[in-house]
Amino acid sequence: MGTLDGKVALVTGGSRGIGRGIAERLGRDGAVVAVAFARETAAAEEVVERIRKDGGRAFAVQAELGEHGDARALWDAFDARVERPGVDIIVNNAAVGRSSDLESLTEDEFDRLFAVNVRAPFFVVQQGLGRLRDGGRVINISSGAARLALPEIMAYGATKGALDTFTLNLAKQLGPRGITVNSVAPGIVDTDTNAGWLRGNPEAQAQAASQSALGRIGRPEDIAGVVSFLASDDARWVTGRVVDVTGGAGL
Ligand code: NDP
Repeated sequence: MGTLDGKVALVTGGSRGIGRGIAERLGRDGAVVAVAFARETAAAEEVVERIRKDGGRAFAVQAELGEHGDARALWDAFDARVERPGVDIIVNNAAVGRSSDLESLTEDEFDRLFAVNVRAPFFVVQQGLGRLRDGGRVINISSGAARLALPEIMAYGATKGALDTFTLNLAKQLGPRGITVNSVAPGIVDTDTNAGWLRGNPEAQAQAASQSALGRIGRPEDIAGVVSFLASDDARWVTGRVVDVTGGAGL
């Protein structure tokens, strides 16, 4: 028996990195997982295959977030594949950008950051509300960057601050239906987002590891375990919170 047997989960950005770790974990916990992705079809299919090999059930859902009508397109694609209508767990994980300092960010880049990282989760939930079953879960993947002053990723950090405020309000609004809403805030995790400056660069790795009290860089499964807990019945009394999963960054 898995903790999420009988549940259906949607994970945006489930094809790679942290989202992949979350999708695979929820699949192992017993949920049917919709692995949403933007462009990397092969990566999404690989995740679906992995979940099936581990004895779970999953399917891939393609939708580019950050465009007008994106959430409707995502849910249409979801509805076309899901066996039983409805969803129990929405994980808003897909996001873009890091480098976003005050001096060089353009207006278009700023708009894109907010469109993918804030507007998309807002409308994914709005358009998903009729499908989200009572007692369900919304889990927004935020960032430690929402709480630390990191000027070189200032606008990115601001998108995650906005997401946390969304979490707070949504928790109040959906509480009467027994739906919990929480943010999970990772620190530096070894994913493709960070590949350019982190992989193959021992100095950068040592510097990144030293930011955590535990002395290492995060792994997708570190984040997935916390998401799995928040999705489970054991976390039914936790809502409207930001759970720091940075390995103790900035202590
Ligand atoms: P990755 O870059 O490794 O993966 C991004 C995922 O999001 C992919 O599945 C990608 O799909 C999908 N995606 C990207 N853009 C879009 C879009 N426009 N529409 C739909 N899907 C999209 O990201 P990470 O795993 O590093 O990050 C996951 C989450 O964790 C993000 O919210 C990020 O802000 C947060 N985070 C990450 C940290 C880190 O150090 N990695 C630290 C703190 C927070 P496809 O494969 O099709 O391109």
